[in-house]
Amino acid sequence: MGGFHGELKIAGHTVSRCKNCGRTYKSKPAYSRHINHECGKVEIHTCPVCSRTYKRKDIMKTHIKDLHPDYYIRERKLLENRILSEDFLSRNI
Ligand SMILES: [Zn+2]
Ligand SMILES: [Zn+2]
Repeated sequence: MGGFHGELKIAGHTVSRCKNCGRTYKSKPAYSRHINHECGKVEIHTCPVCSRTYKRKDIMKTHIKDLHPDYYIRERKLLENRILSEDFLSRNI
């Protein structure tokens, strides 16, 4: 990726590039928000049933499957229904 970070001029616009992840932002506020609130933060996944927190989504899913099977089955059905209806819609455009 060249290791460039800081400000960059693209077609007359000053673009700020995040040195951590390489994302570019055309507006300063969006860039600061990214630096302060988004980038480098570990995403925490919270179990919607018992509020236990997990750093990995797959582990949280296993937890839900094992400890709250009813919830897991219900969510899966909702998801399947949504996928089915999206599929139905895209075919009828
Ligand atoms: Zn970043
Ligand atoms: Zn739980």
